[in-house]
Amino acid sequence: MPRPVGCRKVSALPNVTYFKPRGIPLRTLDVVTMSVDEFETVRLADLHGLYQEEAAARMNVSRQTFGRIIESAHRKVAECLIGGKALEIQGGNIMVEAQRTFECLSCDHVWQEAFGTGRPKECPSCHGASFRRTDSGAGRGHGGRGACGSCQRRRRAPGRQGDPAASSAPEPSRGV
Ligand SMILES: [Zn+2]
Repeated sequence: MPRPVGCRKVSALPNVTYFKPRGIPLRTLDVVTMSVDEFETVRLADLHGLYQEEAAARMNVSRQTFGRIIESAHRKVAECLIGGKALEIQGGNIMVEAQRTFECLSCDHVWQEAFGTGRPKECPSCHGASFRRTDSGAGRGHGGRGACGSCQRRRRAPGRQGDPAASSAPEPSRGV
């Protein structure tokens, strides 16, 4: 019986969730699945060069746990590169950090940015400079999406009933 794992904080979900070697039909490929928390360790430590201690704190895990997650992530990347396997990124016991939402006044494009990245310079769609933040005050108290309620557990995956976190924090039905 595995012990329930606490939510690991990630700053954003991956934009691309599937990589495959070129020229090899999907049905003949082995697929390696990387969880979103594993993906986040690669982002923080390998891409942004954070020390494991700081990266672990950002994800709300111990340094040992962080080390274990990134080791697993590295092994999976190696398996794909060397074994020519496809890589899929999904799942994991994660909580996505609060995002700021912006809306373009020119083209109505809506997009999100993490906190602490400064005000965006332009609309990523039309490159216009007139946009506004639409979630003012939404950064505090996530309402029904707080704590474990915002875990991005794969709803598609069956057989994940009986989740202890879900039963201890019943989702309030809010008509927002
Ligand atoms: Zn725009």
